[in-house]
Amino acid sequence: MLLCCAGVPVLAGEPGDPELAIYLDFEGDPSEVALDSMKKEVAAIMEPVGLNLQWRALADGGCSESFRELAVMRFTGRCRMDAPPDFEPQAAALGMAKMSDGEILPFGEVACNRVRGVISTQMGSGDGRKRDSLMGRALGRVVAHELYHILTRTRKHAAEGVAKPYYTARDMLGNTLVFQPKQVNLLKKNRPSLLPASERPAAVRLID
Ligand SMILES: [Zn+2]
Repeated sequence: MLLCCAGVPVLAGEPGDPELAIYLDFEGDPSEVALDSMKKEVAAIMEPVGLNLQWRALADGGCSESFRELAVMRFTGRCRMDAPPDFEPQAAALGMAKMSDGEILPFGEVACNRVRGVISTQMGSGDGRKRDSLMGRALGRVVAHELYHILTRTRKHAAEGVAKPYYTARDMLGNTLVFQPKQVNLLKKNRPSLLPASERPAAVRLID
């Protein structure tokens, strides 16, 4: 399947133009509640950075739109709490940003089954919507972490906050998890609108 993503930079943007489009690609049907909660969590975490986030489904294409910068997030496994448990290695990564020749690419991946495995023991049984909403919060934090790598093009981590290298169930389910000021500043410095046009990708084509 050949998919086309609009990655053509807006050379003379208007204030308020979309700055970062996030294309979502799910292996299985996500819970709508989790999806909504995830978007809200990413927006809350990114709020101090000042990015205008535009969410799109990769399956919808989007060739007619232009964005200053885009990222593609692929979600493996089942992103819903009513799915049966899956056995995944405990130590495996919850998410990753893809690399090529030492460069971080604008492609992230989130392992829903692993996220589910870590948080499920701390959730207990209960209201399905609440559980999916909490899963969305956890997914949002993993997405924000990978966006941090993608936007700053660094593999480095922070000691605390969203950019730290390991998440516990508490990190993913607690009331708030935010970037530390240093990471916020780094993200601000790397906002797409501040990059010269020559440093923006001219186009991104995905072959799946
Ligand atoms: Zn990381």
